[in-house]
Amino acid sequence: MGRREIFAGNWKMFKTGKEAAGLVDELVNGTKTLKEGREVVIFPPAVYARELAAKCGGSAVAVGIQNMHYEKEGAFTGEISPSMVRDCGCRYILIGHSERRHVFGETDDSVNRKVKAAHENGLEPVVCVGELLEEREKGVTNAVIKKQTEKALNGITADMMKKTVIAYEPVWAIGTGKVATPEIAEEVHIYIRDVLTGLYGGTISASIPILYGGSVKPDNVAGLYAMENIDGFLVGGASLKADSFLDIINV
Ligand code: PEP
Repeated sequence: MGRREIFAGNWKMFKTGKEAAGLVDELVNGTKTLKEGREVVIFPPAVYARELAAKCGGSAVAVGIQNMHYEKEGAFTGEISPSMVRDCGCRYILIGHSERRHVFGETDDSVNRKVKAAHENGLEPVVCVGELLEEREKGVTNAVIKKQTEKALNGITADMMKKTVIAYEPVWAIGTGKVATPEIAEEVHIYIRDVLTGLYGGTISASIPILYGGSVKPDNVAGLYAMENIDGFLVGGASLKADSFLDIINV
């Protein structure tokens, strides 16, 4: 495939500190012999990030945070800044997850500001895009994906793009147990790559990892992984247990 392959776990608002530390220990142990070209990233609740990043030092597991503000600092109660993410030892930041967009009102504009802020602070954004069920049923999936992708990347240079990851997460598949078929996912991944080619040209587009997310489990991962344009996964529920996440990582 030639592209980086990323296996990312989004822990959402789950785990106590003790449970988080235990899961990281299992993941660090279980990833000592990763297949070549594979990277593992976890997105734990932000309050545990510093401690977990320290635990992951020198291992194959990298740590990111699930959301941040785009401003440098200020009176934004409850928020964390890009430099704070970095200061916690994190390299990755998840941006525009569907729960941020649809539960917390994240807009294409704030997603774009966060992607820019990530690059200004040496963080690698994992930018999520995905259509709602009604949008798929209306036949506007591609239009939604194009708009979200182009708006998220507005002002992002080719150099920044080389350190940007896209995650396609159809909203109807997240946490629902309804996984996209490999063919449906691949079709959208190809479309995203076309959009990226329009923005950055074929060489850069071909180098960008596009992850699939939405009810990925050990028993459905192989079919998805076999698709040419699926370069890894963003996993929610199945990343909360070491054995199921490791089964996915070792697909
Ligand atoms: C997610 O949280 O990004 C996700 C894809 O969740 P799940 O795997 O549980 O559908």
